[in-house]
Amino acid sequence: MSPPIDLLVRDAELVVVDGEREIPGGWVAVNDDRVKAVGAPGAEPAATTVVSAAGRLVTPGLVNTHHHVYQNLTRSFAPAVNGSLFTWLTTLYPLWAALDEEAVYLSAYVGIAELLAGGCTTSMDHLYVHPRERLVDAEIAAARDIGFRFHATRGSMTRSVDDGGLPPRSVTQTHDEVLADSERVVLAHHDPEPGALIRVGLAPCSPFSVTRELMIETAELAERLDVRLHTHLAEDVDEGTFCQETYGCRPVEYFESVGWATARTWVAHCVYPSEAETRRLAEAGVGVAHCPSSNMLICGDTAPVQTMRGLGMAVGIGCDGSASTDHASLWMETRNALLLGRYRGGPGAMTARDALDIATRGSARCLGREDEIGHLRPGALADLVVWDLPEVALAGALSDPVEAWLRCAPARAWTTVVGGRVLLDRGELRLPALTENLREHRRVAAAIQRLT
Ligand code: ZN
Repeated sequence: MSPPIDLLVRDAELVVVDGEREIPGGWVAVNDDRVKAVGAPGAEPAATTVVSAAGRLVTPGLVNTHHHVYQNLTRSFAPAVNGSLFTWLTTLYPLWAALDEEAVYLSAYVGIAELLAGGCTTSMDHLYVHPRERLVDAEIAAARDIGFRFHATRGSMTRSVDDGGLPPRSVTQTHDEVLADSERVVLAHHDPEPGALIRVGLAPCSPFSVTRELMIETAELAERLDVRLHTHLAEDVDEGTFCQETYGCRPVEYFESVGWATARTWVAHCVYPSEAETRRLAEAGVGVAHCPSSNMLICGDTAPVQTMRGLGMAVGIGCDGSASTDHASLWMETRNALLLGRYRGGPGAMTARDALDIATRGSARCLGREDEIGHLRPGALADLVVWDLPEVALAGALSDPVEAWLRCAPARAWTTVVGGRVLLDRGELRLPALTENLREHRRVAAAIQRLT
């Protein structure tokens, strides 16, 4: 008789293994940090820990491909919320100049708690303001303390207002500072091994917030260190105007000219590519982080997701910054992707399963990890969510648990497992420091917003 496995999630109404396989009444068996087996009722193995998913949907954990978690320190900041993207940024940059290691640690700890409650098991983060040193180290420390799968990206800005850019000098750095610290952060924290909890990428804020030389040399450094590249691209019409006036070309053309159109890169937003540009990005293997809520709140348009997926591009989901979207529920982002997809393309354009595929397998491709996250096939990392399906909100939704999950609710995660560890347990976060860190977060946020 074989020994009991570590964790068994059983009796689910439905287990979504991946885009091809679903198991009614199914179970997922986990050993250490990997999915050992999945199956139909009646063949469950013995387990040390058993999680009942009776009446609930089980999916792969949702994967966040674009975020700025530090922004939860200035969430819904009244003087900024109703401006354009550029107005929003220039209002908030002076506040973000107060960021230090403590503030970034607290924002990441609280932000990861929010992500876990929204069904997210892997998130990237794009930290591009560096008024002080070692801020990326601080957010990675929070992810390590929690045991969350985290892809930090070392962001950068070098073009301040003095150089014709948007941000004040207090949040930008020099070319040499950026490159030296980018290499330091990768060497200190990036884990290239399968099953890694922590990975690091390189991520100038946008092609226009750093110099042309820094874009080129960042891509070269990513190649040398074998890490991924990320940036904002074609988010807003103001960016197109700025690019035309400054460089005499369109944003995607500039992005291509600095050597970034490669399979190593995924970009946030990509709202305004032309059809020809979309085809070229697809051929180059560039992925896209689709950020529906942020786009609706601050941009007025959204990525041509159906076209991109039709061309075989990796399209993932992103909640974007905590202060532009003001929430970090990936369930809500996935639902908004469904709504926007149908709004743009008609009711036949997207199903709940398509949206779930974007938020799991599409996102995993963006991060270069489709082999081990975004699905629950045996051998995958044990990153999964048992969803709370409230009986009142779902009363009468009997025919399709996946459509019901995204169309009814709002849904919250009931149990969230990362690498075989239960971090959200029947609705309760297993984060012992959360209460204290929330109190400290409030103190630090008030100071940053100059409310004290
Ligand atoms: Zn962003």
